Amino acid sequence: MSDITYLHLKRAVEKKTECFLCSIETEIEAKYLQTYLQELVMDSKAREKIIKSRGFCNNHFYRILIEAVKPTTSDEHGVALIMQSVIQQLMQDIAEQNNLHRNTSERIGTNTHKCPACNHLTESMNRYIKKTVDLLVASTEFSKLFKESKGLCIPHYAALTSIVESMEANQRKDRLKILSEVETKNLGRLNSELADYVRRQSYEYSEKDRMAVADVVSRSIEKIAGKRGIKLSEEMKKYDV
Ligand SMILES: [Zn+2]
Ligand SMILES: [Zn+2]
Repeated sequence: MSDITYLHLKRAVEKKTECFLCSIETEIEAKYLQTYLQELVMDSKAREKIIKSRGFCNNHFYRILIEAVKPTTSDEHGVALIMQSVIQQLMQDIAEQNNLHRNTSERIGTNTHKCPACNHLTESMNRYIKKTVDLLVASTEFSKLFKESKGLCIPHYAALTSIVESMEANQRKDRLKILSEVETKNLGRLNSELADYVRRQSYEYSEKDRMAVADVVSRSIEKIAGKRGIKLSEEMKKYDV
């Protein structure tokens, strides 16, 4: 098994972060935003898309801005061109609304449903989520890696288990067992790490002792909430995760 999705998943698991799917999402998102600034800004199809969606969602517009001002990818000029296209479209929308066209307000403003970056992420992540569900039992190598991993954040755990729950009973049992065992083990690990963190707040411990375990707080949040700005598909939102 040597396809790219598999290798990407394997590499992410080996990084030993609190959620390998969050790591993949972070990478895909960064790559998309960089490509957007380097290539898509000048691409006429991408331009049409961004006009249609009236820009990016709030999160991705600010992410684009952060990328654009980095010295390595400096491309505020590109961002200015996007803004100009979107602003011209918005002026047209407002003129139409003023002429009493109905339903114009729905078109104005971008939500995550229309944002091209969100759509790209949802599509890509669905592929990785489904692949993970398959590999859990289809690949002995991956299953072993997964068992030794730090598991998943809760939103990705819920996304995976919601897919598994809809499978036939014989497909479901082994997958649920692996998923729940790994997740329980890692929640237990964090629980002990937090206990250690709390213990070290006492005066007997030095600043250095405290610093050594300081990152458990942010890692616990990553585990419970997923990465900041995590993108879950509409399908997953239905399950209220
Ligand atoms: Zn995650
Ligand atoms: Zn977005």
